[in-house]
This record gives sequence, structure tokens and C-alpha cells, in this order.
Amino acid sequence: MKVGVLALQGDFAEHKEALEKSGFDVCLVRNIVDLVSVKGLVIPGGESTTISKLLKKSGLDKAIVERINKGMSVWGTCAGAILLADDVKSKKPIDTLEVLDIGIERNAYGSQLDSFQTELELDGKKFEVAFIRAPKITKIGKDIKTLISYNDNPVMVRLGNILVTTFHPELIPGTYFYDWLREHIFYG
Ligand code: GLN
Repeated sequence: MKVGVLALQGDFAEHKEALEKSGFDVCLVRNIVDLVSVKGLVIPGGESTTISKLLKKSGLDKAIVERINKGMSVWGTCAGAILLADDVKSKKPIDTLEVLDIGIERNAYGSQLDSFQTELELDGKKFEVAFIRAPKITKIGKDIKTLISYNDNPVMVRLGNILVTTFHPELIPGTYFYDWLREHIFYG
């Protein structure tokens, strides 16, 4: 599948590299024309306020919501998770795409100094991830499935074609998580 990585701000280059290592055909998405050619989309980590402003400016906010509503698979990680949520706790108000019924709190683990690396388990296999000024999912709506929890907090949730993680797998070598994506989210 041709997968797009939203490349307005944040660690899109690392996602592109990780997706390519796992065998995906990858395209960086900076405008509405780029979006047309992709079948799935990654919204990377970064600074959610900045990405939100750039989404609006480029018109990609509406275009992405339209594609998601038509069934495009999307994975939001960290800032990307915040941008997909419909209820965000944040010091400064932020406009999001509001496509997933979750509550999420920005920078909920503390400052940059409280960022950390840990091992998580998905479908019986362990893999290493990083939490970087990560948000916490504080509430999940009906029918949303928690696929991974960390210290009793959901850190990976899914509803149909929408997947959200609060951690970064792309910063650590290994393709396990991306291979999982190919089987479960970005297939076809
Ligand atoms: N703290 C960032 C925000 O709230 C998210 C951090 C990240 O994407 N790693 O926008």
C-alpha cells in the first residue's frame, strides 16, 4: 500500500525511513494533491499546536477528515494522537480533526526530562518504544479497543480505520511494529 506521512512538522523523516525499511511505498504529504495518491496516512509526532495551524493553512484538515470518513486508514502517533482526538486537555486551546472519541491530556508525563524508553507487548511480542513529552489517553469512547496499556493507561487504541499511539516506535530500530501495521491497518 502507498502510505503518506504528513510532513508539515515533526519527525516525518524517521517515519518515512521506518516505513520504507518495512517495505512500504511512502510519500510525504504536504498538500491536498499529495494526499490524493495515498491509501493510508501517518500523522507523526511533533508539536501538535504547530501541526494544527499548518493543517488549517494548507486545507489538509478538511481533506484528511473527508478521507478518514471515507475509510482511509490513519495512524496518529503522539502529537498525531492529539490531532485525531475530539477532547484535548491542553494549556493553550488547540483545534483538532476530532475524528476519534477519546480524551487526551498533552504533556501528561511531565517535561522533556521525563521522556523515557520502554518495552511494550503487542500480540505476544515485545518491542521497544520511546515516550517523548507524551500525552495520556484519559478517556475512551464506546467501541474503541485498547490494544496496549502501560501502567494501566491505554497507549494504543483503535476504532476501525483509526489507530492512535502515544509512543514512538519509529525512533528505535526494528520493524516489528511496522510489519504489524501492514497486517492490521495499512493493508491492501
Ligand atoms: N508534547 C507534544 C505536543 O503536545 C507531543 C510530543 C510528541 O509528539 N512527541 O504537541
